[in-house]
Amino acid sequence: MLPAIISAAGLAGMATWAGFHTMWPTSQVYGQTFTGVDPRSRLLALTYDDGPNDPYTWRMMEVLERHGVKATFFLIGRFVQEKPDIARALVAAGHAIGSHTWDHPNLIFCSAAEVRRQLQQTQQAILDATGADVQLFRPPFGGRRPASLRVARSLGLQTVMWNVTCQDWKAKSADEIVARADRQIRGGDVILLHDGEYHRIGVDRSRSVEASDRILSRYQSEGYEFVTIPQMMEKQELAISN
Ligand SMILES: [Zn+2]
Repeated sequence: MLPAIISAAGLAGMATWAGFHTMWPTSQVYGQTFTGVDPRSRLLALTYDDGPNDPYTWRMMEVLERHGVKATFFLIGRFVQEKPDIARALVAAGHAIGSHTWDHPNLIFCSAAEVRRQLQQTQQAILDATGADVQLFRPPFGGRRPASLRVARSLGLQTVMWNVTCQDWKAKSADEIVARADRQIRGGDVILLHDGEYHRIGVDRSRSVEASDRILSRYQSEGYEFVTIPQMMEKQELAISN
């Protein structure tokens, strides 16, 4: 029984609050996640979701190499199985990689057993392709619950969210993506971009590639340093507490 003192409006408010914290990227209510470090660090981490994606992951790697930067890629297990050579090339180039589940479900609607299957299958695919034991995890759509974070932790995975989203999946131009980044970047940020699209391999991400090139030029010239998520995590003393 709920205390009679909680009104219907209050209950509706609580439901909204709970939903908000389930999907909001920097919320810590449903378990500890990594979302960046202190702005004074002048560190930035570019993160790319939904690959590997042929040929756009390759193009993204060319841009990053031109700027001498390592980034972090959250890979979809079934795409790694299809394109193991791209996953291998990412690791060989020194980029950090993490798990983005097997086929990108919203984990809010998955049982703990299904979450475990999604994560284990992806860890195995990445291990088979690259020899790397992944330790980072980003939930699709940012959706997570305490149970899913617990499963991730039990598999040795640390959950990484973001605090800058460029909404590149719906942007009509690189200009739009760069403008969104500029409005949010302060320093210490984890920036969410996409080298792939979760429905299939081959979806055009040329705007994200061009936007990355421009974000790198601009912030490197302003003295910011681009690092991988593990490198940023080493600065844990600077971690933002939400
Ligand atoms: Zn995704």
